[in-house]
Amino acid sequence: MTLKVGVIGTGMIGQDHIRRLTRVLAGVEIVGVSDLDRKRAAGAAPEGARVFDTPQSLIHSDAVQAVVICSWGPAHEEQLLECIAASKPTFCEKPMVTSEAAALRVIEAEVAGGRRLVQVGFMRRFDADYRRLKTVIDGGSLGAPLMFHSAHRNASVPPGLYTSEMPLNDTLVHDADISRWLLSDEIVGVEVRLPRRSRQGSDLRDPHFVLLHMAHGAIVDVEISVNIGYGYDIRGEVSCEQGVAALPNRPATVVSDVNGVRQSIPADWRERFIEAYDQEFREWIAAASAGTATGPTAWDGYAATLTADAALRAVASGGYERIEMIDKPGFYDTPQALAAE
Ligand code: NAP
Repeated sequence: MTLKVGVIGTGMIGQDHIRRLTRVLAGVEIVGVSDLDRKRAAGAAPEGARVFDTPQSLIHSDAVQAVVICSWGPAHEEQLLECIAASKPTFCEKPMVTSEAAALRVIEAEVAGGRRLVQVGFMRRFDADYRRLKTVIDGGSLGAPLMFHSAHRNASVPPGLYTSEMPLNDTLVHDADISRWLLSDEIVGVEVRLPRRSRQGSDLRDPHFVLLHMAHGAIVDVEISVNIGYGYDIRGEVSCEQGVAALPNRPATVVSDVNGVRQSIPADWRERFIEAYDQEFREWIAAASAGTATGPTAWDGYAATLTADAALRAVASGGYERIEMIDKPGFYDTPQALAAE
């Protein structure tokens, strides 16, 4: 069976996902696209795909069985709620939504429908290195995890008005999600420290140093640098009671010559996580073809949104900001909801 998919948002990542859904992965066909910019949608549409005037008309089209949302964050809530109302399995890029109230509305709608439909685009969970790291931690041979050091360095961001909003709303959510997943724990509080400001981007508040306090006592430190210049550099090291487990640098090939010993650095997230995105969609296609979703849930999207909100409050207060979650609906503990975790 071929899953017939509609893609909303045909910008940078929308085009990359269209490439993988048409050229890399099997069992899927893009039958429609939609974007605020109709011309961009037409340019990105694979041959034979229809360009819809609105996301709503795409979502409710009988030709579309499942939806991929790659519009910008503030548009996600309305589009997700439409997809849930139409009972269509939906892959939604992170951030799932941009406010706690919006996250709760998505959870409420999905739970009311009684079937998991939403997968949030936290692709690190599908990365082979992160999966091996989790297997080691879950195996218990190193004892309990005590600290997780996570570095998230982007080469650059487009010029513009960047305060703390973008690094915390758009970037920290990945580290928040992977921390919860790796440590099998919830985040209960956040602190943010602002180191000396980098001169690499004149109007940029960069870098940020974030502390995530986990419910069982572990602490995660996250370096977020969004204008580091030299490439896209993701590091992770978990310190446990009896040992340390760390991600390898990627790509792993080491070159030795007259200039020394070195590894190259990926240019951006597309290069570093190319296989993780492929695997993320492989698993989504399988689940969506069965009428459901897998991997990161709307609950995970909610947790990441709360963390970003708390981090923004912590920038303003300079102190520790608590996170209070609602009771987790049992719906998200079912084997179906926890698949691929
Ligand atoms: P982008 O290049 O700006 O593309 C977004 C596209 O969506 C633009 O063409 C935009 O049109 C369109 N759009 C905005 N609102 C819309 C709406 N209501 N209905 C239909 N189309 C709409 O942004 P991007 O970098 O692709 O990011 C898109 C999403 O993916 C964001 O949520 C971002 O955080 C996420 N993302 C995730 C990762 C990851 O690693 N998982 C990496 C990059 C991005 P206009 O330009 O006309 O507004």
